[in-house]
Amino acid sequence: MTVYVDDMQAKYRRMVMCHMLADTDEELHAMASAIDVARKWHQKPGTPHSHYDICMSKKAKAIKLGAKQIGRKEVAELVNKKRLVSLAIFQLFQCEMSRVIERNESYFFGIDYATRPDITTVSVFKGVGPDITFDQIQTDKVNSALAVAKKSPQARIQFPEHLAPIPIAAECPICGKPLLLNAGEGCEQDANGEWIATEIELLCTSEPEFNSPDWDDWYRWHYSMPYVDWLPLEQRVLRAVRKKYFFRVD
Ligand SMILES: [Zn+2]
Repeated sequence: MTVYVDDMQAKYRRMVMCHMLADTDEELHAMASAIDVARKWHQKPGTPHSHYDICMSKKAKAIKLGAKQIGRKEVAELVNKKRLVSLAIFQLFQCEMSRVIERNESYFFGIDYATRPDITTVSVFKGVGPDITFDQIQTDKVNSALAVAKKSPQARIQFPEHLAPIPIAAECPICGKPLLLNAGEGCEQDANGEWIATEIELLCTSEPEFNSPDWDDWYRWHYSMPYVDWLPLEQRVLRAVRKKYFFRVD
């Protein structure tokens, strides 16, 4: 169990305050109640920034009970670690999300952030504004997907075909503009029977309309030496796509 207090000294009314954070919200609330800090002081719930603002006397109490003193840099590291976990979870449920978006319903995910990828649960809420309700069915679905992913951290996720072409981190080797990825046209089954890509298509976002007078020049500029400019990148992205995504072949 690790709870942290930082070295901030912010004045609030007649008190000097610092932040109290933890690896998990569970640990954070447990410590808050142990040092008699009310739940209303909990800030940024459900985000990687989840913390309490506590005064110096409470800080001393927390340290006595085992809280670790950290500096600003370590706070940033802790928040970043949690953000990475939430990103991974977001990617995991991208497919589910895309279906949700398509049905034109609004869902959002409440996540209990954790620095250890083995202890995260997700709650799904549905609706907008004051009409938000907890959605048990989606929550069960998402948590069982999470349980599967926890057992095999390398598990592939379904390629979000509804969203394709999807943006990727790589840039166009010719003009440096962002690239989009299409995949799933060619597939093969791996040893476990999962369909994985044998080819991908990278699209440069600078491509003009096909009918436009600029298209011929753009094409000559971008594809004069495809084996030199594009093939190495395509092979790298294909390897990543084969690791990350599976495809549904009907
Ligand atoms: Zn380009």
